[in-house]
Amino acid sequence: MPRIETDIKLDFKDVLLRPKRSTLKSRSEVDLTRNYTFRNSKGSYTGIPIIAANMDTVGSFEMALALHRFTLFTAIHKHYSVDDWRGFAAKHPECIQTGIAVSTGTSDGDFEKLSAIVAAVPQLQYICVDVANGYSERFVQFVKDVRQKFPTHTIMAGNVVTGEMVEELILAGADIIKVGIGSGSVCTTRKKTGVGYPQLSAVMECADAAHGLGGHIISDGGCTCPGDVSKAFGAGADFVMLGGMLAGHQECGGEVVEKEDSSGMYKRFYGMSSDTAMKKHAGGVAEYRASEGKTVEVAYKGPVEATVRDVLGGVRSTCTYVGAAKLKELSRRTTFIRVTQQLNTVFGDDSWTF
Ligand code: 5GP
Repeated sequence: MPRIETDIKLDFKDVLLRPKRSTLKSRSEVDLTRNYTFRNSKGSYTGIPIIAANMDTVGSFEMALALHRFTLFTAIHKHYSVDDWRGFAAKHPECIQTGIAVSTGTSDGDFEKLSAIVAAVPQLQYICVDVANGYSERFVQFVKDVRQKFPTHTIMAGNVVTGEMVEELILAGADIIKVGIGSGSVCTTRKKTGVGYPQLSAVMECADAAHGLGGHIISDGGCTCPGDVSKAFGAGADFVMLGGMLAGHQECGGEVVEKEDSSGMYKRFYGMSSDTAMKKHAGGVAEYRASEGKTVEVAYKGPVEATVRDVLGGVRSTCTYVGAAKLKELSRRTTFIRVTQQLNTVFGDDSWTF
């Protein structure tokens, strides 16, 4: 008989952070920089641990340069050539060393390309092994192979949503586990498959599992506004990965296009398993699979800098509300309260604009 877990699992929208008495005077006193040493690579990290997703449009070299100015991180999408990497590395050695991961899938071709990029760009320190479903044995084996070939690179791997798989991947050699299935803004996995896990609970459970072993996690997907980023950190995420919140900017891949009804400019944003991505990179959707991503038009927002400032300002402010002088203290100072309503929507649109 199928089992049912009756514990309610929660999403960002189900909770708010409870304010706490604090001695902090201003959000300008809050330090968002984190320092980590990784379990398997022994590498170290310093920066504000927010990561642009390794999606075609968001994980671009241009995005990496813009985010690196704020010490944010970018997982570069996997469709740049070895020559593109070489060219970027020659011009921006510092960004390569501290602000970028190279992404890879798990095919033999992916492994070869990864090896070629790492050989061409020896300063590179981070590898992001990314599959939609991190529960396959083949994926675990791939992580082991990458660890064996690159003993001192810091390996991000995912995606999974449960503690036992986080542990398995860390023991297989990964340092940072990407957590999130079905929560992404252009993800249709839950509709197509019925599979998923509410993001806040996934992060809380996976952070607990990872930290028990000295590993780290990324909360990947589902952030719709700066408050969600704070909730992810509050839940124990070491890093937070953003796709949709960084879409539509100047630094994103793709053209700025005028809307058909001339109501403004937009950029296209699409899931990495969408029809759009599969047509672009794989010559179409294979017969045996369904597309699990959508394509949307995001209003053009100009340079990403303003968005970054808004997100960082929001997280700093969260820290002052709960009395955390440093981002490091946020999860310790977090009490979530379950709620039935997040926002007052009397004036309509409740999407994130600033
Ligand atoms: P967002 O920040 O937009 O809510 O979520 C970004 C994350 O969505 C990505 O980092 C990735 O894990 C996930 N994602 C990206 N493209 C797709 C897709 O086509 N299908 C699914 N299921 N997830 C996707």
